[in-house]
Amino acid sequence: MQEFQGFPVSPGVSIAQALLLDREGYQITRSRVTTAERSSEAERLDRAFVSASEQIAKRTEQASEKQLGDIQGIFSAQQQLLLDPRLREEMRQLILRRSFSAQLAVSQVLNGYAQAFRRMGGTFLSERVGDIRDIERALLEQLGGAPTTSLSNLQSPVILFSHDLTPSETANLDKKFVLGFCTEAGGPGGHTAIVARGMEIPAVVGVGSFAQQIRGGMEVILDGYRGRVILEPDAQTKENYLRRSRDRQSFAVSLDALRDLPAITVDQTHVELLANIEFPSEVSAALSRGAEGIGLYRTEFLYLGRKEDPSEEQQYQAYCEVLKAVNNGQVIIRTLDLGADKLSTRHSVESEANPFLGLRSIRYCLRNPSLFRIQLRAMLRASLEGDLRIMFPMIATLNELRSARLLVRSVMDDLREEGYAVRHDVKIGMMVEVPAAVMMLDHFVREVDFISIGTNDLTQYTLAVDRGNEAVADLYQAVDPSVLRLISQSVKVADQAGIATSVCGEMSSHPAYALLLIGLGVRTLSSPPSALPQLKKAIRSVSLSQCQAIAERALRLETAHQVHTAVHDSFAALLPDMVQQI
Ligand code: PEP
Ligand code: MG
Repeated sequence: MQEFQGFPVSPGVSIAQALLLDREGYQITRSRVTTAERSSEAERLDRAFVSASEQIAKRTEQASEKQLGDIQGIFSAQQQLLLDPRLREEMRQLILRRSFSAQLAVSQVLNGYAQAFRRMGGTFLSERVGDIRDIERALLEQLGGAPTTSLSNLQSPVILFSHDLTPSETANLDKKFVLGFCTEAGGPGGHTAIVARGMEIPAVVGVGSFAQQIRGGMEVILDGYRGRVILEPDAQTKENYLRRSRDRQSFAVSLDALRDLPAITVDQTHVELLANIEFPSEVSAALSRGAEGIGLYRTEFLYLGRKEDPSEEQQYQAYCEVLKAVNNGQVIIRTLDLGADKLSTRHSVESEANPFLGLRSIRYCLRNPSLFRIQLRAMLRASLEGDLRIMFPMIATLNELRSARLLVRSVMDDLREEGYAVRHDVKIGMMVEVPAAVMMLDHFVREVDFISIGTNDLTQYTLAVDRGNEAVADLYQAVDPSVLRLISQSVKVADQAGIATSVCGEMSSHPAYALLLIGLGVRTLSSPPSALPQLKKAIRSVSLSQCQAIAERALRLETAHQVHTAVHDSFAALLPDMVQQI
């Protein structure tokens, strides 16, 4: 029995066989061999080199017949790399001395080269990274590795182990067979984690290097509550996990009874509970968990993981589907928040040194008005179907807000000229997720109908911590006193101006933090559907003054750790039964 610790990003416990993918998405069926198998495994590697080399020679010949000089050049460069005896020797040594499987040896060695070339920079070396990846692919294919597409025809349940997963790869996982996933990279605030929570797939990220320990097919427990992964658990450990899962399930069933009851504190303060969704298909889960509406629809997921951008019509249909399903409740549709970790090949910006500070989100939309206009047209047309509200992400300056609003007005004029009926009272709001927006909020509130505090990015930009980077994940703390002050200040300014405030960052999905936010004056929380029943239970068990006491104490503290401890202690004292279940 061996254990890994990472960041818990999506609650739930799964027990299944491991499926290990290498960095290129190839399935590594076996990572270690026995001592007796070492030399036959090294011979298998030799044979794979011969076959891969023959395959590349054939490609070079075909390119030469077609007089494709450039391509011929690429293949002969790959051939040279493949014939370099040092490369094969490094892999052989990993097999012969350390019992690596041939697949793992290929993946480790070539990945090391790719990273070194990338670090050295320069165009010539960066181009070589592509060659290395091609060679890796050719060798792994010879060694029987199946490419990632095998994920779409899984036949039995697995827990996926991969170096990393993009948000759109995560969104495409087949929940029927992928019971959980674990990645070496990634931090708790990244969008991969958010998608996993939305899809309710238990997940642990940022575990660090695991490829050598995992064999495809070995039994594993993935504990998405505590961020633990246990390899080959013994019977007792497995039984403990199964028992805890049964307890949690019966607790979840007991919360179903609250579904149609309001989220009010014992002293009658109403807290509006809305849901965050990435896809229209999540609305039914949101409503069945008691959501009063949609507080954040992340529309960029319509654009990710598909060959072409969705047309105006397709977007219109998606927005109408959500509005009709929600049936008169509010639906806050956020305009495209592409960029940084949410990239599609069509919209990727020239490689940026600091993508989270780069051309992302509203900045990208304002630079690409034709793309933005299509989305705004679809939204404004759909607004006739219900209470649609438009929200702009990552607003940092008044100019951005004004430019975005001007575009809305101009799109409205176009639609009217084309004969469409257009509503004039569509509410327009902005996310508050950059400290600059908090500092200038007294001006912003004069020009928006509502604000929604995005604590995921607000934490990232306040503390200068990349939300998806496991190396600094311990610094990524939404309850850092600096972030709390910004939230508190935002709520006060919005209240004074009489405009609605919600919190839609992941912070609102933890019941203990939700009580803190309520104490800070927040009256609308938007969170992944799966979190709503627990939030309601917590809210209905406490008084407003208890929440205020939590907030007042937190605002006096000096470090994130102190706040975390104080808030959790208060929560445990107020809801001792619940603390065991979350
Ligand atoms: C946020 O930043 O808090 C937020 C809700 O938006 P996203 O997580 O999509 O960046
Ligand atoms: Mg954000």
